[in-house]
Amino acid sequence: MSVTLAELAREIAQDLTWSNLIGGKPQPAISGETLGLVSPSDGEDFCFIPRSGLEDVEAAIDAARDAFELGPWARTSATERGRVLMRLSELIKQNHMELTALESRDTGKPLRQADADITVAARYFEFYGSAADKIAGDTIPTLDGYTALTLREPHGVVGSIIPWNYPAQIGSRVIASALAMGNCLVMKPSEEACLSILRIAELAGEAGVPDGVINVVCGLGEEAGAALSSHSDIDYLTFTGSPEVGALVQRAAAVNHIGTTMELGGKSPQILFADADLEEALPVITKAIIQNAGQTCSAGSRLLVQREIWDMVVLGLQERFDGLVANRHDADADLGPLISRSQAERLETFMSLAHEMEIPVLAAGTIAEDAPQGGYYTVPILFGPVPTDSALAQQEIFGPFLSMIPFADEEEAARIANGTPFGLVAGVWTDDAKRAMRMARAIRAGQVFINSYGAGGGVELPFGGVKKSGHGREKGLAGLYEMSAIKTVVMNHG
Ligand code: NAD
Repeated sequence: MSVTLAELAREIAQDLTWSNLIGGKPQPAISGETLGLVSPSDGEDFCFIPRSGLEDVEAAIDAARDAFELGPWARTSATERGRVLMRLSELIKQNHMELTALESRDTGKPLRQADADITVAARYFEFYGSAADKIAGDTIPTLDGYTALTLREPHGVVGSIIPWNYPAQIGSRVIASALAMGNCLVMKPSEEACLSILRIAELAGEAGVPDGVINVVCGLGEEAGAALSSHSDIDYLTFTGSPEVGALVQRAAAVNHIGTTMELGGKSPQILFADADLEEALPVITKAIIQNAGQTCSAGSRLLVQREIWDMVVLGLQERFDGLVANRHDADADLGPLISRSQAERLETFMSLAHEMEIPVLAAGTIAEDAPQGGYYTVPILFGPVPTDSALAQQEIFGPFLSMIPFADEEEAARIANGTPFGLVAGVWTDDAKRAMRMARAIRAGQVFINSYGAGGGVELPFGGVKKSGHGREKGLAGLYEMSAIKTVVMNHG
C-alpha cells in the first residue's frame, strides 16, 4: 500500500539520530552529544542531530581543505562540474516526496510550501549546473606588447551558515553556486531545522560530488556556528540569518580578512496606488505575508495604501484574513506553526505592543481546533493604521502580521518605504508605468517587483539587500560571481 505525502510527513525521521557529513562519511559529534530536533507542529522532539563543537568543525574544514587542495574538484572541468550538479538536481527530483516530507516536518511548513521549496532546490542545481561553464573572464586593453586577462577562480574553502526558515532552498543555492565555481564547502545549518540539507548533501555523493567537497556540521550557533565563522582556514563566508548574528559573523571574518556575503532581514513594503488592479494585488499581498507563517526574510510585511482606496483595501483583506487557518504541517492549511516557542513568544510581544499603542486589529485568522496543544501556532493579523515609527512598522517581526500604513502621494510612499533600517524587497502596484519606474528607482532595496511580488523562489533573479538587509548577492549569475575571486594575468610578449 502506498503511503501518502501527509502520512509520510507525520512520521518521517521519527527517533532517528542523524550524523554530520564530513569527508563523505556520516560522523556523529566527536563528543557524542546530540540535540533534540523539535517538531513545531506539536512541540515534541522527534529526532536527534549532532551537537558539534570546534573539533567537529575543524575536521570538516580539514576535509574541505584537502578536497580543495588535493582532490579533483577544483581541477575538474567546469562542464563536468556542471554535469554532476545537474545529476544532483535529478536525484532531488527523484527523492522529491521524501525531501518534502522532511522539510515539512522539520520546519512545520505546510506540505505544498515544502513541495515548492524542494522544486526550487532542484532548480538551483539545474541553474548553476548549466551555468558552470558559461562564466568567462575578460581581456583588458593595456600597454602595447602586453596581453592582460582576468580569470575567475574559486575562493577555496567556503564556510556557510544558514537559517531554519528555508533550509532546502537556501542551502541549495549556496551549495550549487559554490560548487559550480569549484569551491569546497563547510555548511552549518540551523539547529532548529537541518534535515533536508543533510539528505541533499548525502545525495550529492550519489551524484558524483567527491568526498570532502560538501561537509555539513550540525549544532548550536554559538558553538559550531561561532567555531566556523572564526576559523582561520576559511577563505570566504556566506551567512543567511538575522542582522544581529550577521554582525558577529562579519566581525569574525574581519579578524581573518576574508570576504562575506550577508543575507539578512527585511521589512519589505508593498505599495498600493489607487489605480492598481486590486483583484490581482490582494491575493499576492496576502500570500506574501502568510507564506511560511510570515517567517520569510522577503515577506511583504508593510502594506502602504493610498488614502483614497484605504477602506476598499481593508474590506478586501478582511475577507481574506478572516478566513485564514493555521494548523499542523501535514494538514496543509493556509499556514503552519511558527518554528519555535521563542518565536511564538516574540510575536506575543509585538501583539502586546500593538495593544498598548491601541493599534487597531482589522482582521485575524484562526487556529484550527484540532491543532496539537504543544505546537507554536499563531493567527495571521491585519493591523492598521500603524504609526510609521512604531515597532510594528520598523522591526522585522518574522510572523504573519501585516501592518497597513496610509500615504498620500509618490513622495510620501517612497519616504515611508525607505524609512526603516532594512532594504531587501519592495512591491509597487500601479497601472501607471512611468510612476512604477519612478518608484522602482526611488526605493532602496535589492529587488523591486512591479505589479507582482516574489517572496522566495526566483532562482534566476539576483537577490540580496542594502542597509541592514546585508550585502552581496545570491541567486542568478550574480550569485555565481560572488563565489569566485578575480585574478588578473598580465603577459609581456613584446
Ligand atoms: P539566526 O541569525 O538566529 O541564525 C542563523 C544561523 O546562524 C543559524 O544556523 C544559527 O545556528 C547561526 N548562529 C547563531 N548564533 C551564531 C553565532 N554566534 N555565530 C555563528 N553562527 C550563529 O537567524 P534565524 O532565526 O535562523 O533566521 C531568521 C533570520 O534570517 C531573519 O532575520 C531573516 O530575515 C533572515 N533570513 C534572511 C534571508 C535572506 O536571504 N536575506 C533568508 C532567510 C532568512
